[in-house]
Amino acid sequence: MRLVLLGPPGAGKGTQAKKTVDALRLTHVSTGDMFRRTVADGGEQGKRIQAIIGSGRLVPDEETAAVVDSFLTKQSLWDSFLLDGFPRTVPQADALDRMLEKRGKRLDAVVAIDLSEQKVLARLGGRKSCPSCGNVYHDVSAPPRHTGLCDRDGVALVTREDDQPEKILERLRVYESQTRPLLDYYTRSGVLRRIDGDADSDQVTARILALFQK
Ligand code: AMP
Repeated sequence: MRLVLLGPPGAGKGTQAKKTVDALRLTHVSTGDMFRRTVADGGEQGKRIQAIIGSGRLVPDEETAAVVDSFLTKQSLWDSFLLDGFPRTVPQADALDRMLEKRGKRLDAVVAIDLSEQKVLARLGGRKSCPSCGNVYHDVSAPPRHTGLCDRDGVALVTREDDQPEKILERLRVYESQTRPLLDYYTRSGVLRRIDGDADSDQVTARILALFQK
């Protein structure tokens, strides 16, 4: 199955992607994670990407599409993937269609997680993550066992630079202007499935999986 997960920042895409790929036996492909790895590797490209991510803006479309194309090709994933965080713009969606067409494939579904702006702000406000393993926590809805420390490796949790209040507003603005148009794009191509993301994490996962039960 070839799936895309869409939703505003804070809708729980990353968490839902991890749970969905386990249940459906797909590979999770997150452009955000890829770019964070590039930043961690350092170098000129890492510094440039860090500045873009830190500002809440998007990495250029062509560069992002090339990273995804090369990753899916290298890992032989053209038949089984869940894309999380890509596409994020109409030109990226066009690029993905072209990549798939070239291989005689198409998307099976695009799952959009709906969440109001008010809920998004509340969720992103308390988000913390482990700078070492990337595990994500939330002050209210998913606190770690020991305050401020990662359950997996005990490393001190941090607020991602792009989760600072003014960056959150910029990411929401970018979502509204660049990513929301994808809902119409995929409605037109007949693959869009929408689910209500305003529930606890397990309920949202169950809603996603219910879309694929025969
Ligand atoms: P995420 O973890 O998906 O929220 O991504 C974190 C950041 O990585 C985003 O705010 C962007 O700066 C960058 N990024 C991730 N995916 C994309 C994409 N498809 N296009 C452009 N930039 C992206």
